[in-house]
Amino acid sequence: MNNRKFQYPDVRQVAVVGSGVAGLCTARLLMEQGASVTLFEKSRGPGGRLAAKRVTGGSADMGAQYFTIRSPAFQDFLARFAGEGSFARWDARLGFQAPDGHWQTFPHEPRYVGVPRMTAISRALSDGLDIRAQTRITTMARNDRCWTLTDTDGQDFGPFDEVVITAPPAQTRDLLADSNLAALAEHLRGPVSAILPCWAVAAYFNEPPYSEFDGMRPNDEILYWVANNTSKPGRSEQGQWWVLHATPDWSAANENTPPDAVVDAMVAAFRALTGTASEPLETLAHRWLYARSVGSDASGKPGCLWYPEEGVGLAGDWLSGGRVEGAYLSAEALVREMI
Ligand code: FAD
Repeated sequence: MNNRKFQYPDVRQVAVVGSGVAGLCTARLLMEQGASVTLFEKSRGPGGRLAAKRVTGGSADMGAQYFTIRSPAFQDFLARFAGEGSFARWDARLGFQAPDGHWQTFPHEPRYVGVPRMTAISRALSDGLDIRAQTRITTMARNDRCWTLTDTDGQDFGPFDEVVITAPPAQTRDLLADSNLAALAEHLRGPVSAILPCWAVAAYFNEPPYSEFDGMRPNDEILYWVANNTSKPGRSEQGQWWVLHATPDWSAANENTPPDAVVDAMVAAFRALTGTASEPLETLAHRWLYARSVGSDASGKPGCLWYPEEGVGLAGDWLSGGRVEGAYLSAEALVREMI
């Protein structure tokens, strides 16, 4: 008699590696279909690139800055699982600089942020889920059509009927390659180079350093994006925290530059951009090795990858347009394939 089947007569056991937006949404949608889901997350908590750092007086969003809700399915999903209190519309004045130096406003579109920080959404989505934090999965092995996952400490988890990997492409490729799934890893050759690094800096000013825009995308060698974090709803700190993101090229060229030197260069670029004479009173830096995918629309992307023979699925923003909403759409596409 098969003990596993006896114990769980009809319930599919699914492991989800990664608890960013794609992992959390996959788990929620699979559980709605009656599956039993365990998530594995290498960091201290869920959220992935939906990240905020605690700073004096509040927190600063170091990863995703805002998200769109263009798809009715995403709207419905958020209403069901994230509730209304965890996010709100950010009616920001956003501008971008054309190559000739002129500033224009972003196209009008509702944009949303987590309240009081971006991670409020991942916190809401993870409520009640079985998440094994600080558990980095290094290999997975299949025996008798069941998967066992192993972490960096050599601890085994399983058995699982199916495994969903939602890590960025380089980490997904390594996990597949180390698990004797070379053919699947080979599919990720292109996507690995299409996800770009980003240095992020948060800087605190006790007086507003600039007031024309709340967020801007300059045409600049160093700065890719600059935002007044304090202008987002639910941020109550005194003074202003600004978040600066570097361009992919500059971030790649400075991958091993010490954080202090990165802060100096990015703050100098911010002062030149805004014309402010103020020096920030506090700063912090974070390096994203895998930040954004090249191209932010989903056309030409597969949405998800599902290998029914192996019982392995891949989901993540990089398969569906490289944004928060893309991560949801990828999860939704994968769950549709799996059921
Ligand atoms: P991730 O969030 O990367 O989740 C993957 C998870 O897998 C991580 O938590 C990771 O720790 C975990 N993991 C990896 N390997 C393992 C392993 N072996 N074992 C266990 N766990 C593992 N999007 C927008 O929509 N708007 C924006 O303004 C925006 N700005 C951005 C700015 C920056 C600087 C960055 C970094 C991203 C930005 N994005 C933005 C993109 C957005 O953050 C992502 O599209 C989205 O969060 C990706 O979600 P995901 O679940 O696919 O991947």
